[in-house]
Amino acid sequence: MTRPLTTSLNILVIGAGIGGLSTALAFQQQGHRVTVVERVATIRPVGAAISLWPNGVKVMHQLGLGETIEGLSGEMTQMRYLTQTGQTLTDFSLAPLFGDVGQRVCPIARAALQQTLLDAVGTEHIQFGRRCIGYTVTQHGVAAHFDDGESLNADLLVVAEGTHSKLRSKLVGHPVERQYVGYVNWNVRVPADEALAPLSHWDQYVGDAKRVSFMPMGSGGNEEGAQEFYCFFDVPLPAGTTNDPDHYRDELREHFAGWAEPVQALIERFDPARMARVEIYDIPPLDSLTAPRVALLGDAAHGMAPDLGQGGCQAMEDAWVLSQALARALEENTDTSAAIDSALAQYDRARVDRVGEIVQRARKRAAMIHGHDATHTQAWYDELKNEDGQAIIDGLKTTVTGGPLG
Ligand code: FAD
Repeated sequence: MTRPLTTSLNILVIGAGIGGLSTALAFQQQGHRVTVVERVATIRPVGAAISLWPNGVKVMHQLGLGETIEGLSGEMTQMRYLTQTGQTLTDFSLAPLFGDVGQRVCPIARAALQQTLLDAVGTEHIQFGRRCIGYTVTQHGVAAHFDDGESLNADLLVVAEGTHSKLRSKLVGHPVERQYVGYVNWNVRVPADEALAPLSHWDQYVGDAKRVSFMPMGSGGNEEGAQEFYCFFDVPLPAGTTNDPDHYRDELREHFAGWAEPVQALIERFDPARMARVEIYDIPPLDSLTAPRVALLGDAAHGMAPDLGQGGCQAMEDAWVLSQALARALEENTDTSAAIDSALAQYDRARVDRVGEIVQRARKRAAMIHGHDATHTQAWYDELKNEDGQAIIDGLKTTVTGGPLG
């Protein structure tokens, strides 16, 4: 547990997503006065669920939410790849990974994660329905400006406004364009059912540069306590295709004609009203995530392809690293401005390479899975046939142990 501080700063966080709320909570626990400002009046998380890998869950444990999150999430102990017709390519236990890093993965409903974070921060500290449109560094701090004409002053501003961030370009000093990664993802929750996949398995069907995934995600705290699967479909497509829930089932029937029975059953079962269809974009790695008095965090700083399941986990790591850097800097500096400068410099040093490398690795993996070069994708399918799990576990372990909590 972090010891209480003598210096309590006024910290403003823009965005009440995973990144903004994790940051707000970390700073609150150090005794700072935190205000979160969120654009929308009511948060409805886009997407069905999220897999929190051990590096993300470790941050949640540090913030006192680990047990709650473990209780709401699915028990995923085995990983399997299958061909599109249902032949097993590889099937192995994830227990060695969890044993080595000292933490299991937590696939969890986005709504449950969001609510857990909101409850922990306290909605009385969040101003909903206000959009930040800019900021100015002032003599004694920073002023954030809002679309209602008001401004708020703070010692430190954290910009955690997601991948579409408008403040990012000002902060880094040049325009940053999102890049299309080349595929569309449909994701949805369905009741868990052994006819679709074993209840403890993460099953992925791969073929023709497409993918279908079934992941056990627990009940997410739903009233009936009913277990659910988090499922998604990936298809390489050009950007800008029509997104219409009325067409989801027909689109997927067409893209996955002839695939294995569980895939067909899923396509006939899901509720299109509960499905999200997302074109996948990332942003190029940035050279710096800070400006005087301001930190960029989460997808605003490193929007990435979801092919490593790391975007949210990295936002949590950011939150932990930034809060720890500020705690250290306040111990070492009596002057608040100097402490904030030092904390931002430490945050930059700790995060730029880490997140840049993960953004690039996620893009490379997305290219391999989704057929940017058909020979690479075929080579990957061939590798999976000979995979005993060790190489995949080693890759996951490298990602996890590269984080701030080992
Ligand atoms: P967001 O969640 O986008 O939150 C930003 C918030 O800021 C929003 O609430 C928004 O309304 C608000 N906002 C925006 N602009 C303003 C403004 N100007 N003023 C005030 N408020 C503003 N990650 C994982 O770790 N594991 C996974 O398995 C995983 N799977 C994924 C699957 C898919 C298909 C996708 C697309 C992503 C996945 N991710 C995963 C990534 C993860 O969803 C994101 O990295 C994470 O949600 C980013 O959180 P954030 O807080 O940075 O941004």
